[in-house]
Amino acid sequence: MTTSDPLARSDVAYQLHAYTNAQRHREEGPCIMDRGEGIHVYDTEGKAYIEGMAGLWSVAVGFSEPRLARVAHEQMQRLPFYHTFSHKSNVPSIQLAEKLIGLTDGRMAQAFFTNSGSEANDTIVKMVWYYNNALGRPEKKKIIARQRGYHGVTVASASLTGLAGNHRGFDLPLPRILHTRCPHWYREGLPDETEIAFADRLAAELEALILAEGPETVAAFIGEPVMGAGGVIVPPETYWPKMQAVCRKYDILVIADEVITGFGRTGRMFASDLFGIEPDFMTLSKQLTSSYQPLAAVLMNERVAAVIARHSGELGTFGHGYTASGHPVATAVALENIRIIEERGLVDNAAAAGAVLQRRLRELADHPLVGEVRGIGLIAAVELVADKASRAPFDPAGMAGARVVRQSQENGLILRGIQDSVAFCPPLIITEAQVGTLADRFAQSLEEAA
Ligand code: PLP
Repeated sequence: MTTSDPLARSDVAYQLHAYTNAQRHREEGPCIMDRGEGIHVYDTEGKAYIEGMAGLWSVAVGFSEPRLARVAHEQMQRLPFYHTFSHKSNVPSIQLAEKLIGLTDGRMAQAFFTNSGSEANDTIVKMVWYYNNALGRPEKKKIIARQRGYHGVTVASASLTGLAGNHRGFDLPLPRILHTRCPHWYREGLPDETEIAFADRLAAELEALILAEGPETVAAFIGEPVMGAGGVIVPPETYWPKMQAVCRKYDILVIADEVITGFGRTGRMFASDLFGIEPDFMTLSKQLTSSYQPLAAVLMNERVAAVIARHSGELGTFGHGYTASGHPVATAVALENIRIIEERGLVDNAAAAGAVLQRRLRELADHPLVGEVRGIGLIAAVELVADKASRAPFDPAGMAGARVVRQSQENGLILRGIQDSVAFCPPLIITEAQVGTLADRFAQSLEEAA
């Protein structure tokens, strides 16, 4: 799309875009999407694209689900808004909270709703601090996150995020937030180090960090079971049990950020189950409503919920909440979206279609520019390198992924470049045949961009 199109001109003039080089946007203009159908979106010029990223890792049921539109319409007519402050409630928020707790088999006890994953993680930071204040240990406040982890963009959640681009220019991270090593064996493993030895080393590094800071000052550890925005990093199998054991040893809460992995992405309802994570907090968003409505949930276990309830009694209130916490339209849409995921077996489809995706992408592993293919279920990444043997980055500017992604877009496939990697995260409704088309288009784009 060129900047001579009137709509594009208005976009450039009046809208500051999220995660966009604002200077370059003035020259290049936007790609404006107009409608969606199944796994496809169409721009205003009528060009069709396979949405290979499910929007922002988020549209599980595809871009044209009438049941979600119907439920939103009905709820808007019945009760378009009601809040959850001061003992008030609304029907869909209660039903969704109960449904989410049920999906965890009762391992979590209560849900708190926010509008976005960032706000949910921000809320967790406050809850962790509140929890330790309630327990009379005001010094136990530090939170350990990971390099390349992604947890959002509010002041606290951007501090948890372990990406320089989210800190640069913003005077972040906040004090009391620390980062430990990313569990990416291909990039962080030592020569001849096995995945098991690598996981052992990362757990030892975590313990060393806790001891250096003082265990009495460390409150929580946060991680995505499978990292998304940091480049789709599937950790070694033993990584989470080892990290969790270190946390338990020092009475450190475990936070599983399942904003991307929740609701089937990896072929399991929650990726925590895949890795044996028993979190004290879980963060859910994105596929919670298939992003048809902005909504996120903080789930907490009884250990935390009981302390928060007691402390709010002592202080007179739990002094936290958003106007739209538990919004009836968003929570009604989430309930229907989860019903669709269950009725259509989309978690199993993520496993089956995901196996095809993983196999098709791994067929590219011999390509001279492909360093690593990684992923699980319907989430994957292909990392490009200049030299396979030395694993030298493809491009000193670290933007090889973006070049391939631009070519894919030309070829009707939307993917995401993350430095030298290209990420894949299609809607959970994708068929095995559609995965084949997606993989063909990517292979062609890789050839053309190389
Ligand atoms: N946590 C994870 C794992 C995410 O991937 C994201 C967004 O991509 C967030 C949190 C932040 O969510 P939001 O963009 O809704 O604030």
